[in-house]
Amino acid sequence: MQDIDLRQYIRGIPDFPKPGILFYDISTLLRNADAWQLATARMAHAVSPWQPDQLAAIESRGFLTAAPLSTRLGCGLIMLRKPGKLPGDTISLTYALEYGSDSLHIQADAILPGQRVVVTDDLLATGGTLAASVALLRKAGAEVVGASVLVELTSLGGREKLDIPVHALLSYD
Ligand code: IMP
Repeated sequence: MQDIDLRQYIRGIPDFPKPGILFYDISTLLRNADAWQLATARMAHAVSPWQPDQLAAIESRGFLTAAPLSTRLGCGLIMLRKPGKLPGDTISLTYALEYGSDSLHIQADAILPGQRVVVTDDLLATGGTLAASVALLRKAGAEVVGASVLVELTSLGGREKLDIPVHALLSYD
């Protein structure tokens, strides 16, 4: 298993969620026990030198990458959530989508000043979601030291929107 190419466990599903879109489905990686163990081990190995105090997880599939990474690295986990989901005082940030806008929230007291945070999601496409998450984390007082994703769609240039190091386990053109 050690030298295996994990790309074979990800499938592309055409015309989902809309006609013309090729959706990269990570479910087939997650449901394979050995492949998922190896994926999280490799991600943790890459993120470890950044020495995060916290991992920030982007709702919803970012929760799936953040949970095993935080336990492997021995650091905390913070949720970045859609509106109306987090109790207590929150800080939010609204960002543009292709059509319309969306917003992400974080609990106002989630981060101690200057804590080192790595943000994680399942997939990096245009980079809009990760860029907004980085801005929100900074607003909340974090030192954002990197981003970790399972899959990067390199031709969309998302990484250029980010001023932090990005680790992608698997890349597609
Ligand atoms: P971006 O903001 O354009 O970088 O899009 C990234 C966000 O959209 C992530 O939160 C992903 O979960 C989601 N996303 C976009 N395309 C895909 C895909 O092909 N598979 C899984 N998630 C996707």
